[in-house]
Amino acid sequence: MPIATVNPANGETLKTYDELEAAEIEERLATAASTFRRYRLTAFPERARLMERAADLLDQEQDAVARTMTTEMGKTLAASRAEAAKCAKAMRWYARNAEKLLADEVPDASEVADSGASHARVHYRPLGVVLAVMPWNFPLWQVVRFAAPALMAGNVGLLKHASNVPQTALYLGDLFRRAGFPEGAFQTLLVSSKAVEGILRDPRVVAATLTGSEPAGRSVAAIAGDEVKKTVLELGGSDPFVVMPSADVERAARTAVTARVQNNGQSCIAAKRFIVHADVHDEFTRLFAARMAELTVGDPMSEATDVGPLATEQGRSDVEELVDDAVRSGATALCGGRRPKDFPQGWFYEPTVLTGITPDMRIHHEEAFGPVATVYRVRNLDEAVEVANDTPFGLSSNVWTRDEAEQERFVRDIEAGGVFFNGMTASHPALPFGGVKRSGYGRELSGHGIREFCNATTVWHAAEASDE
Ligand code: NAP
Repeated sequence: MPIATVNPANGETLKTYDELEAAEIEERLATAASTFRRYRLTAFPERARLMERAADLLDQEQDAVARTMTTEMGKTLAASRAEAAKCAKAMRWYARNAEKLLADEVPDASEVADSGASHARVHYRPLGVVLAVMPWNFPLWQVVRFAAPALMAGNVGLLKHASNVPQTALYLGDLFRRAGFPEGAFQTLLVSSKAVEGILRDPRVVAATLTGSEPAGRSVAAIAGDEVKKTVLELGGSDPFVVMPSADVERAARTAVTARVQNNGQSCIAAKRFIVHADVHDEFTRLFAARMAELTVGDPMSEATDVGPLATEQGRSDVEELVDDAVRSGATALCGGRRPKDFPQGWFYEPTVLTGITPDMRIHHEEAFGPVATVYRVRNLDEAVEVANDTPFGLSSNVWTRDEAEQERFVRDIEAGGVFFNGMTASHPALPFGGVKRSGYGRELSGHGIREFCNATTVWHAAEASDE
């Protein structure tokens, strides 16, 4: 894919970029490595001061960077502004909490006495230069939720962003530099995915994090495995949204719409499969489909728009193929199922609700990365859990029930990295984020996230030999 800004609302190529030459990549790797040697020694208050400064700059520049994001990948301007605000919040959260999260862990002396120790502790140290391969769907947030904890821990970062968001990528490198982080602490590399292998195999790079599709994750993890380097993978999702009879069905249907079409339907944690108990199935489905059909599709820069275009032409084709395959195999589209007529230039797709889904349809197993929902009718709790888990993915889950026994059943049995009751999944700096199964491994955010790229070092002191 060429590195370029192409407006998905009209298909116009606005700016193209040359990839970095090999010598330029080498120069950035050398800078990152030498910066790490000094930056790792900075104290937490100094890192926090720089991170707070980056958050302040981002707040001041929110409108401009939001417009860049909307232009590059088509999310609504309101969503872009909210994303920028969320990033500043997460930066401040890590600025204020990193020292506490990475404080030494000191076991009681009596617990380690039988090892011959007078005392011991676990001390967290940064790992080094970490490569971040990132997707376009939350072009600021995906990067910041890696960069804020990584930099606060004393690591340095190299960003290989998605090829369709180069301006946002360059903005991020510049943001941390202008905030006062040393040259090389966080650098954007404008390179294609082909360049990732060489960078990852370079001995100066010690670890990698990738957020993106399963094939990309598999490729990066295989190279990192070969090099015995640590990875965190945040991959796709096909999150269930379960509605049980005790739910507030009206509120569930309203939330379901937001949960599905947020970010024009291109969120890993968007609810994608709606699994509804037979007692409330018809009411939920009627309300849900009616609201999906009412959404305003259009110019993402307009305040009146609910759903903008898909980010790439290929992304729209992928969604179209999944829907067409389902309908050909007997599914019914209660709304949508096609491109809107009004916008022939852009990569728009109508919000779609499909019923009559069967396991032979591709959409039953694959991630629909666009505003397309599938609705399933289930007879009881067991069936709801079974359908919810009948997916290769395990990112998060949403369950609507006021019955505490049902809630505990989902906490125990759902195969996912999160379960959100009577609401929709959202990431938060204080809560771990990540998945199981094909959704990846490792965690971002919270204390779990900041410790992913740390060396948990055992520090052990021998007890003095006693004279007997
Ligand atoms: P993608 O094609 O995998 O791209 C993600 C990043 O990986 C881009 O920077 C891309 O570079 C790079 N890449 C692609 N193939 C690669 C390879 N073989 N080796 C090294 N790097 C490679 O994913 P996407 O289509 O942009 O994003 C959508 C996917 O990301 C969805 O599946 C979504 O669910 C997932 N996602 C997951 C999370 C999460 O937290 N779990 C969050 C957001 C998105 P180029 O752009 O240059 O190809």
